[in-house]
Amino acid sequence: MYRTHTNGELRASNSNEKVTLSGWVQKTRNKGFMIWVDLRDRYGITQLIFDEERTSKEVMAIASKLGREFVIQVNGTVIVRESKNVNIPTGDIEILVSEVTILNESLTPPFTIENETDGGEDLRMKYRYLDIRRKPVRENLIFRHKVTMAVRNYLSEKGFVEIETPYLIKSTPEGARDFVVPSRMNAGQFYALPQSPQTFKQLLMVGGMDKYFQIVKCFRDEDLRADRQPEFTQIDCEMAFVEQEDILQTFECLTRHLLKEINGAEVAEFPRMTYDEAMKKYGNDKPDIRFGMEFGELNEVAQHKEFNVFNQAELVVGIAVPGGNVYTRKDIDNLIDWVKRPQIGALGMVYCRCNEDGSYKSSVDKFYDEQDLAKWASVTGAKAGDLICVLSGNTSKVRAQLSALRMEFAERLGLRKATEFAPLWVVDFPLLEWDEETQRYHAMHHPFTSPKPGQLALLATDPGAVKANAYDLVLNGNEIGGGSIRIHDKKTQALMFDYLGFTPEEAKAQFGFLMDAFQYGAPPHGGIAFGLDRLVAILGGQETIRDFIAFPKNNSGRDVMIDAPAPIDEAQLKELSLQLNLKS
Ligand code: ASP
Repeated sequence: MYRTHTNGELRASNSNEKVTLSGWVQKTRNKGFMIWVDLRDRYGITQLIFDEERTSKEVMAIASKLGREFVIQVNGTVIVRESKNVNIPTGDIEILVSEVTILNESLTPPFTIENETDGGEDLRMKYRYLDIRRKPVRENLIFRHKVTMAVRNYLSEKGFVEIETPYLIKSTPEGARDFVVPSRMNAGQFYALPQSPQTFKQLLMVGGMDKYFQIVKCFRDEDLRADRQPEFTQIDCEMAFVEQEDILQTFECLTRHLLKEINGAEVAEFPRMTYDEAMKKYGNDKPDIRFGMEFGELNEVAQHKEFNVFNQAELVVGIAVPGGNVYTRKDIDNLIDWVKRPQIGALGMVYCRCNEDGSYKSSVDKFYDEQDLAKWASVTGAKAGDLICVLSGNTSKVRAQLSALRMEFAERLGLRKATEFAPLWVVDFPLLEWDEETQRYHAMHHPFTSPKPGQLALLATDPGAVKANAYDLVLNGNEIGGGSIRIHDKKTQALMFDYLGFTPEEAKAQFGFLMDAFQYGAPPHGGIAFGLDRLVAILGGQETIRDFIAFPKNNSGRDVMIDAPAPIDEAQLKELSLQLNLKS
C-alpha cells in the first residue's frame, strides 16, 4: 500500500499512529542532524522529520539526498510538533520517519512549485503538469469539477438526459470558421469539428428526447482574441414543446441554483432587458449592471448651438462618472488619449465638470452655457462632484466607444466586485446583422433561430428590423449563455436560408438533413448553451478562463506543452490525399 493517509489528513488526534504517506518533496531543510521535508500531494502538505537521534543512519542518508519534486514514500509515526504551523491544516503534527523509499527522482523543476511561484506564464504553460501541482491551479480545476457536477446533477434531476453527439461532422455555421479534418477513406473529403452540437440537438428533439443536455467541447477557428480558446466547453441544452418563457425560467433556475450552491449567493429574479434597451443604455448587448453610469443621449440638448462636431453627429451621448470631478486636467487629458487609442477609436471627448457649488465647467464653454450644461447633467444623471464624459459620431461606433470607457471607469473606480453577482436576460435580439465586409445580412445568432411571431413578412421589406426569439444570459458584463426558439418547419427554414443568401441547392447540400427531418413531425423546440469555461471563471471570481482549463492553448492558439499544431509527415499527407502548397 502506497499510503494510509493523504498529506492533508493527519491531525494532533492521530498522534502516535503509524502511517504511510506518499507524495512529492516540495521543500527540504537540512541541518545535518535534523532534516525536515514538506511532503505534498493533491490534499495538502505534511511535514516529515528525520532526526539523527531517532532515525537510522541509512534513512538519514537517503533523506539528505532528496531533491525538489522527488516522489517518495515514507513510513513513520505521527508526533505533535513543537512549533506549530497555523497556516496549514496539518500544522500541528509532523511525521517522524522510520523508512523512506524514493519512488522516482525528479530533475530540478524549472520554477518553484508553491502557491507563489517564480515561473512566468510561458514557462508554466510549457510545464503545465508541474503547474497543476500548485495549489491555486489545482483548486481551480477542482472548482470546475464542482460546477460541472452541480450542473449535471441539477439538469439530470429535472429530467434532462445527457446525450453525446458526434465530433466528426459537417459544418454547422455559428459565425466562425470550421476546423476541418481530412478523411483518409474518402479522398478529398473533410469532416468539420462542431462549432456547437446545434443541428444534432435539434434532431434529438425531432427524435422525441424532449430534454437534452451535454457538457461538450466545441471548436471555432476564430481570429485570436485575448482569453479565447479555439476549443471550449459548452453546457448545451435543448427542450421540445417550449416557448421562450419556459427556457428563461428553466435556465434562470439552473443559474440561481449554481450561484447558491457554489457561491452561497441568493439572487432575486433576473431582470430582463431588450437588446435595443441594452444598446441604448449601455452601448453593449452584455451590460455589466453591477453599477450605474447609464448612457444619456444628448442630441436634443446639445445640437442647438454652433458646435459642429455635435451637430454633425448621428449620436451625442454621455455618462456621468461618480466623483469624477476630482480628476485633474492631466488625468482628463490621459482619458482623452485613452479613448483616442486605435482600439477604442474615438475622435475626441468633451467633458463637463459638475462642481460642488452647483456650477458647471465644460471643455466646450465657448458653445454651451450653464443652462445647457445643467440639462446635460439632468440627462446623464450627473450630481455635484461628477464628471460628464461625452462622445459623438456614428451611433453604433460611439456606443461601443462609450461602453468601453464606462467599463474602464468601472475598473478604475473598483465597481466590478467579483463577489457581487448581477445576472441579466437580454431578449429580443435582431434576427439579422448587417456585415460591412460582405455587404450582406448574417444571422445574428445562427440560421436556425426563429423570428418573433408575425415578423416573417418584415424580412422582405426591412430585414434589419426583424426581431428574433433569441436571448442571452449575461452575468457581470459577460455573456454566459445564449439561445433561441428554433424554426421547426421546412418552409420557414428554407425561407431563412434564402434570405441569408443560400441558393436552394446550397441549402439542400448543407442542411438538407435538417429540413428533411422537419418534414417528419418536428416539435416546436428551443434551447440555450452556456459557455462553461467563462461561467466557471466568473463563479470563481476571476476573469481569465485559461486558469480554469487543465491544458489551455495560449493566445496564439498553440499548445506550447505538446507543441501543437505541428506539421505532419509526407506519408501521412499522402495517405490523406493532401498536398501542401505553402507560400513562404
Ligand atoms: N448553438 C448555440 C451557440 O453555440 C446555442 C444555442 O442556440 O442553443 O451559441
